[in-house]
Amino acid sequence: MMTGMRIFVAFLLMMLVVGGAAPLARAQLGEMRIIRDTEIEMGLRQLATPVIRAAGHKPEDIRFILIQNSDLNAFVAGGMNIFLNTGLIQQAEHPGQLIGVIAHELGHIAGGHLVRGREAAKYAGVQTILGTLAAVAAGVAAGSPEAGLFVLGGTQDTARRTFFTHSRAQEGSADAAALEYLNRASINPSGLGEFLQKLASQELLPYDRQSEWVRTHPITLDRVDTVQTHVMDSPLRNQPLPHEWKTLLARIQAKLVGFLQPEQALLRYTDHDSRWAARYARAIALYRTNNMPRALAILDELEKTETTNPYLYELRGQILLENSKPRDAAAAYAKAIKLLPQAPLINIAYARALLESRDDNQIPLALTQIQTALQKEPREPESWRLLATGWGRLGELGKEKNSAGLVAYALAEEAMSKGDAKVALPLVKRALEQLPKDHPLWLKASDLRLAVEKVIEKN
Ligand SMILES: [Zn+2]
Repeated sequence: MMTGMRIFVAFLLMMLVVGGAAPLARAQLGEMRIIRDTEIEMGLRQLATPVIRAAGHKPEDIRFILIQNSDLNAFVAGGMNIFLNTGLIQQAEHPGQLIGVIAHELGHIAGGHLVRGREAAKYAGVQTILGTLAAVAAGVAAGSPEAGLFVLGGTQDTARRTFFTHSRAQEGSADAAALEYLNRASINPSGLGEFLQKLASQELLPYDRQSEWVRTHPITLDRVDTVQTHVMDSPLRNQPLPHEWKTLLARIQAKLVGFLQPEQALLRYTDHDSRWAARYARAIALYRTNNMPRALAILDELEKTETTNPYLYELRGQILLENSKPRDAAAAYAKAIKLLPQAPLINIAYARALLESRDDNQIPLALTQIQTALQKEPREPESWRLLATGWGRLGELGKEKNSAGLVAYALAEEAMSKGDAKVALPLVKRALEQLPKDHPLWLKASDLRLAVEKVIEKN
């Protein structure tokens, strides 16, 4: 099981909606793999922060959700969530191209392009469903087979077009907004122009060979011209991007290829390639191809060059934990957490390593780590599962007298986080029976019970 970079699978189900009323026929469409990784998520946010602010949002309001898909695509769904395909990030030639696309998606958010309009209203459910998908990305419903639903009308292709395809007017307004944000943020707009130019040639390709982005964001030479004209007139068009952005993107790309295409990474980045990102990709790819000693050897060297890089310690922890060395893994995670105290995915991995170490003295620390993770991501099922484990162990040791009630409560939260109210109901009832009424979690458990019953009533 992966702990550092994690891949969640959400199944996409096709629901055939006939008219507005919906006698539903369902067929499975496929699956969507969502990738979670602290370094990548924080890196994307860092790159996007200036344009997010220029668009009038707080950086933490926008969530980036990474989909494992080599096709170029990005879209906005479920409010302020920007979905990015790994292909888009991997194929970006420099950060300006990626930031340009993000600015364009922010333009769609500003225009409310997926919310307004008759077409959108007809499929109002889509936003809710994509919101669910966004929740899936946050760890909700990992492993729950019906976690994400796409409501599609008609056949898959036409449905995709109906839902995700923006009108030309919307594309124009998103481009204009993007250029405005880039300008306000003093970022060279050339990247957006280059990206559109790159895709414009695809307009002539048969539909099935086009990128998803071209299908969903109709591209016209007109559109490319408008953006290019703006770029030519922009006083920022020769302004270099901050050097650290290039480093950041190179590392994100290295991590993606190392994790997702390790064999390819080993071919692309040879032993002789001394660039930092190349060595990083190589270390990851070696570990992913079961070569732990060589991976750790490279990691040793990288750690010497950057002693305060939490992600190197996180990676070391991940490698050790997956190779059944939980104590060593915990020591590595401890270093990562010292540098980055609030990073839910790392908090959780650290807690797991501590619990797997079978060192009873470490259980309270593991519980603290999980609680820290839950503050930021309260619906992560794995956190609740680990809490149940930790509380159960304390009970066996005679160190927690409410163990039974706490375990039932944590398992109820876990079930609810996976969207399984039926499993949650008996558990939360048991928690309420067993916890004393003045226990700090009693109220939480009774709130949970109400939420569970509400879901069950609705279905
Ligand atoms: Zn668009």
